Amino acid sequence: MPTVIQKFGGTSLGTPEKIARAARRVADARASGFDVVVVVSAMGHTTDELIALAEGVSPVPDRRELDMVMATGEQVSAGLLAMALRELGVAASSLTGGQAGLRTDGVHGRARITRIESGRLERLLSRAEVAVVAGFQGTSDDGEVTTLGRGGSDTTAVAIAAALRVSDTGGWCEIFTDVDGVYTADPRVVRSAVKLPRISYEEMLELATLGAGVMHARAVLFGEKYGVPIHVRHSQKPDQGTMINRESHAMEELAVVGCALKEDLGRVSLRGIRNAIGLQAGLFTALAQANIVVDDIMQTEQGSTTMLAFTVEHGDLADAKGIVAKTLAELGEGEMNVEVALAKVSAVGVGMKVHAGVASRMFRALAEASIAIHNINTSEIKISCIIDKADGPKALEAVHRAFGLGLGSNATVAMQTDESR
Ligand code: ADP
Ligand code: ASP
Ligand code: MG
Repeated sequence: MPTVIQKFGGTSLGTPEKIARAARRVADARASGFDVVVVVSAMGHTTDELIALAEGVSPVPDRRELDMVMATGEQVSAGLLAMALRELGVAASSLTGGQAGLRTDGVHGRARITRIESGRLERLLSRAEVAVVAGFQGTSDDGEVTTLGRGGSDTTAVAIAAALRVSDTGGWCEIFTDVDGVYTADPRVVRSAVKLPRISYEEMLELATLGAGVMHARAVLFGEKYGVPIHVRHSQKPDQGTMINRESHAMEELAVVGCALKEDLGRVSLRGIRNAIGLQAGLFTALAQANIVVDDIMQTEQGSTTMLAFTVEHGDLADAKGIVAKTLAELGEGEMNVEVALAKVSAVGVGMKVHAGVASRMFRALAEASIAIHNINTSEIKISCIIDKADGPKALEAVHRAFGLGLGSNATVAMQTDESR
């Protein structure tokens, strides 16, 4: 019997009526003969409200205690959805992340999954029960409650799909959300964006990392590593949505499949330091140990001194500043400079490997929109530019248009044939 993981996001569970609708989707999957594990996010804006509540008590809440508070949001959803399923006559039990066997490291607020002890989930499935798992959380080996970082319920879902080897059973992981799939850009920002029927893990990983909030990047990584087919769908529409799976040759036809905008970036610079051997290793190891994802790294030599800078999301800025201050104290020289209100606009496509002229097209689009570029970062399948946050939506629109991704555009065709620029 195929095992299907169904993940419902916060907006899909925002009211008792929506919870009842989600329960009907689960019941339908059971009636179709699937074994089902459900993963839930907190209802509506609950996580934001819990954080605000904590900040009302303590302006900079202790990370451990904040995890205790935040983890309750998903537990409420899990209990309510299990109740709604029982109302429909479907056998179901809710589980916290820890009860479901999700083990993490001990980094509160951005913990990484280390393993999934799936025995309890398997026992529930073998009893023909639906397991309703609270997403976004786990427990460390010390038994501490941890959370996986904002948007982390997607990662819970795909990680469970990997642990239960759903693809061996002919199953997959469904991400039910408030859009009917993955679009060429955030459809709330770019109105002409179009839905992609399918996208490769590699492209989705880049888009998610670069700001496409529809999927948590680490979920896509799990999907790729363990070959879990991921299906992004609207929770209340029959639409087939977007299938995320392995790259196919046809995917190379388009140079760019999508664009993304990552807002609220900050840049931390270390200035006036000597470029000692091991400087970079020491600093970036400390950042990695704190599970801080560094976006872009810049280094320039100025006479006998060096300037080293990196961007991080605003949420990680306070911790990153602490690590830089410690590094500078150990070096006994240099100073720190912090810039906020930056953003990153990116274009992504596996076809970039074989198409020329992508960078110049992107730079021209930004220039024509009078947008200053502060830094550039490229890989085989993406180009990103750091810009001012205030320019973000305008930049996303301009880049999306330049690659002819929107409704009613025919520039995509030109991109396929024009390799001269
Ligand atoms: P959930 O609560 O279901 O996890 P999220 O808010 O995390 O939902 O993700 C869905 C949102 O992602 C959409 O409402 C949309 O605004 C945003 N989004 C950003 N980029 C994209 C994209 N490329 N395609 C679709 N949605 C996107
Ligand atoms: N509830 C958490 C958040 O808002 C996790 C999630 O929704 O995936 O970030
Ligand atoms: Mg989400």
